[in-house]
Amino acid sequence: MSRPLLEPLQPGERLDETDMAARREAEFLADALQVQRARAAAQSVPRGVCLNCGERCPCQAVYCDADCRADHERREGAVARTQWCGG
Ligand SMILES: [Zn+2]
Repeated sequence: MSRPLLEPLQPGERLDETDMAARREAEFLADALQVQRARAAAQSVPRGVCLNCGERCPCQAVYCDADCRADHERREGAVARTQWCGG
């Protein structure tokens, strides 16, 4: 798997344990970031329509007001927790 966010190791470059740990952490973060970006791209949200109630809202907004946002996020959170717990 390619890791374009990280510089490749130089041939013959040696890493001590601290460097290895730091690199592994950086790789983990880079992978996580890629997953997040892919997920965000796959779930691109239509703008200008409230995600909660379907009403039209300002063109870059995804909710018509704070109440709809809170309501939708609360429901989305419940779904996410259900998926985590239920497998
Ligand atoms: Zn709404």
